[in-house]
Amino acid sequence: MPLLEISGLTKHFGGLRAVHDLVLHVGNDEIVGLIGPNGSGKTTVFNLVTGLYPATAGRVVFDHGRQELTGLPPHRITALGVARTFQTQRLFNHMTVLENILVGTHCRTRAGIAGILLGMPGPRAERRRVEDRAAELLGLFGDRLLSRAGRPAWTLSYANRRRLEIARALAADPRLLLLDEPAAGMNPTETHELMRDIERIRARGITVLLIEHDMTVIRGICDRVVALDHGTKIAEGRFEEVRESAAVLEAYLGRRAGRA
Ligand code: ADP
Ligand code: MG
Repeated sequence: MPLLEISGLTKHFGGLRAVHDLVLHVGNDEIVGLIGPNGSGKTTVFNLVTGLYPATAGRVVFDHGRQELTGLPPHRITALGVARTFQTQRLFNHMTVLENILVGTHCRTRAGIAGILLGMPGPRAERRRVEDRAAELLGLFGDRLLSRAGRPAWTLSYANRRRLEIARALAADPRLLLLDEPAAGMNPTETHELMRDIERIRARGITVLLIEHDMTVIRGICDRVVALDHGTKIAEGRFEEVRESAAVLEAYLGRRAGRA
């Protein structure tokens, strides 16, 4: 059984079929790309897997068939080992870089968010352990975040804020990481660095499901690619196969032609 198995997953918003009868699996240590034109249902898939939206139909099963995620609340799903980033920035801008990471660890500590941030009673050894781990996660991005650990998040550059969002998701100690357009707004140099960052994350034994419009990233690091259009899977396979698929070409070109 794969790490994540999605079957018959469907989400309707009124009359709109945002995701329709989706079958998708992600194996251990894979990096799987999820592509498709705007509005094709990619983010909705993440919202369903992480329990933000209830599914209209279908199942999401995690941990090689052992753990049903369908119907669980988001915090339970995080605790079971699924973490994500969002398409738009959701940092705590007035907290420091380090504090943003500490907040991400709260599902793994007994102290809770308030305890961590306010330094309230609670085991000092645990705080120490959590801070060491936070420093390790910041270090995943070289010196980019580590040297700024004490600064408020709003002072970071755009690319550094995106890196911090990934580090915060990792603080929940996931086995599966869902990244929603992490390269959006990054320049080519930052994008290349991001690719190496994601590969480093995978090398730590974390499986990655990646939504991304930048095909350099998809081609560069994905083992497998799944393409959606209008909520339906239209192609799946290696990047080269998916790219040549008539349905994928039509989904992208048709949409672009329609917009022009
Ligand atoms: P993508 O991430 O591929 O751009 P989304 O999953 O965000 O696409 O959206 C898929 C479709 O579902 C779009 O038509 C979008 O407008 C619609 N949609 C997404 N979330 C909601 C919501 N909360 N309420 C109503 N419609 C939504
Ligand atoms: Mg989206």
